[in-house]
Amino acid sequence: MIFRAAVLNKVNEPMTLDTLEMATLAPTDVLVRIKASGLCHTDLEVIQGSLAYPLPIVLGHEGAGIVEAVGSEVTQVKGGDHVILSWNPHCGHCFYCERDLPILCEPFSRNQPKGLLLDGKSRMRRAGEQVHHYSVTSTHAEYTIVPESGAIAVPKDIPFDRACVIGCGVMTGVGAAVRKARVEAGSNVVVIGCGAVGLNVLQGAKLSDAGKIIAVDVGKARLDRAAQFGATHSVDGTAGNALDQIKALTDGRGADYVFEAAGNKSTFRLSVEAVRPGGQVVWLGKIKVSEEVSFRWGSLMGEKRVVRSSYGDARPRRDFPWIVNEYLKGRLKLDELITNRIRLEDINEGFASLARGEGIRTVVMFD
Ligand SMILES: [Zn+2]
Ligand SMILES: [Zn+2]
Repeated sequence: MIFRAAVLNKVNEPMTLDTLEMATLAPTDVLVRIKASGLCHTDLEVIQGSLAYPLPIVLGHEGAGIVEAVGSEVTQVKGGDHVILSWNPHCGHCFYCERDLPILCEPFSRNQPKGLLLDGKSRMRRAGEQVHHYSVTSTHAEYTIVPESGAIAVPKDIPFDRACVIGCGVMTGVGAAVRKARVEAGSNVVVIGCGAVGLNVLQGAKLSDAGKIIAVDVGKARLDRAAQFGATHSVDGTAGNALDQIKALTDGRGADYVFEAAGNKSTFRLSVEAVRPGGQVVWLGKIKVSEEVSFRWGSLMGEKRVVRSSYGDARPRRDFPWIVNEYLKGRLKLDELITNRIRLEDINEGFASLARGEGIRTVVMFD
């Protein structure tokens, strides 16, 4: 079959809208007609070259759509199901999957950076040339093929645009609080950086019935937005004494949990300074993998736990339907996360807007 997709051919150049050919389905493949696809910061890292992937590639890893067809061995989804895609499909039986760390799944870790599906192959071609998959999802396209473990059926009551954002930003943020850190009711939480992921950490802390939920960001507009998503207190980083303000709000002790979602050397340092002895830090932000970060040794003492999380400890088949239901029950905000809807034709302008730091989420809508 043929379909249209946004293809990144060269770093820092506009994507082209091209007609691609899709291979026939392997036994464990799922063909999905994409209905909505979110523009995430990680796509932008590939476009700008700070995250290197083989080109040409179809980006997009935050998608929702309808199952069009399934391979002969697929049992978990069927034609007509509404699905949210997981950018971390996993084999279920490798060293890490057996140790309950699907995020480190070996076939995933081996093939994802090569722009291939878990079996080490691409399903997409452009005039005979191989086109790469981004994070085994490639959702900035009319159709995609994903492995069975990457297609998660969800209730049909949720609109596709609201559904797609669950696939990356919402799962990562809400999951960091609820699944990774397991925030205790009544505890104090600090969230540094209130973009799409940080706002969802705030929502996760609220779902966990945290006590003080302290948002740290720069400027009134971003802090007001954080309050809308569950922050009970705010700290403006521009004042220069963020740590003092956090300490003042936490009886001088520091917070029980600190989430870093800004992706900055200085905020990684702040995160360990701002947590109380025995507390937990979760790092969600990123800087270039080759960069070094230094810490004051004393800030790491005191039985602190520091963990990194890329996907909020996601178990997509458990968590996507749970998050959808929290939304349908009115306990989680998704409508407010989507600040712009565009056509696939306008995707380059969409990413330019993301690079300028505008809005929360832009979603590409397909008919
Ligand atoms: Zn993402
Ligand atoms: Zn595995």
